[in-house]
Amino acid sequence: MSAREERGLLLPWIDALPAYVPGRPAEAVDGLLPVRLSSNESPYAPLPSVLEAAIAALQDANRYPDPQASELVRSLAGICGVRPENVAVGPGSVALLQQLAQVTSTAGDEVLFAWRSFEAYPLVTVLNGATPVAVPLTDREEHDLEEMARRISQRTSLILLCTPNNPTGTALSTDAFHRFMRSVPANVLVVIDEAYAEFVRGIHFLDGLREWRTYPNVAVLRTFSKAYGLAGLRLGYVVGHPDLINGLRRSTVPFAVSSITQAAAIESLRRRPELLARVESIVEERTRVLEALADLGVRVEPSQANFVWMRLGARHWTFLEACHAAALAVRPYGDEGVRITIGEPVENDRFLRVVAHFVEPS
Ligand code: PMP
Repeated sequence: MSAREERGLLLPWIDALPAYVPGRPAEAVDGLLPVRLSSNESPYAPLPSVLEAAIAALQDANRYPDPQASELVRSLAGICGVRPENVAVGPGSVALLQQLAQVTSTAGDEVLFAWRSFEAYPLVTVLNGATPVAVPLTDREEHDLEEMARRISQRTSLILLCTPNNPTGTALSTDAFHRFMRSVPANVLVVIDEAYAEFVRGIHFLDGLREWRTYPNVAVLRTFSKAYGLAGLRLGYVVGHPDLINGLRRSTVPFAVSSITQAAAIESLRRRPELLARVESIVEERTRVLEALADLGVRVEPSQANFVWMRLGARHWTFLEACHAAALAVRPYGDEGVRITIGEPVENDRFLRVVAHFVEPS
């Protein structure tokens, strides 16, 4: 029998795909409205003018969108200080991640990333028949770049760096990134996944948009789901060299970014200062939450994202039950820890009350 005859309906590695485990939704409890701190979304609704732009685009929903998203790409290029040929857009950065894996990696190749990190990494790897190489974080919850450099092999096709890292919130320094790049062969694509870039504070941290040009094999991945508050409209973008961007454009599903999303994103870019002011409020809340956790004696690494990570080990079940009882949805990661998104002050207060009670039950 030929290999094709032996094969079932699905490709063999599809069965090996890790299942996506969604968080348990919050339910209303005793008059407490449910609060969702489980998905790193923005707590703020779209700005009125963004809603207006989206609704206006909806009037023409009988027409296909601009397949090149030309105006959006031009606006993004302007904001990022690059040329339009350096920008590709897609329906969420996770879709672009899948495409980045697709254009670089196949059976026999290895995709290298830190672990724990964003759950889509093993998924997009296996989906393309490639093999995940997951390098454990250090005990400071950071990428172990030295070990990652050692794990680069002749099979490595793609390296995913997540900064700040989801779910731990730790960020890479610019120096560490450049040191790491010395070990990366020129035919291996390095993607800097910066879904939370706008929340980073501190000049020594890596800013992919400032550094990517130094290397012909580096690209930056960003999203409108977090700082721009458009998670439900699905938009991500890649900044990189024209050959990669061309590859992404040619391999995309046609019309992947809807006209409504394009209109809302263009208006969001016009209103960027207002949206960045919202980001600043979240950063201030992050500082307050981290300080309160430290005061409660909870060990957390200083997050650079819009979430905090509590490594709770075996105690995570008790904590999750307490969150559930307070109508609070948070994101558990097996028995490793729990990730909590920074929300509005009242929401964060509720989370801090749960922690206070968890630390010192009355
Ligand atoms: N990268 C990272 C690190 C993320 O945490 C997320 C969202 N959880 C994404 C990418 C995907 O975001 P989106 O598809 O909404 O753009």
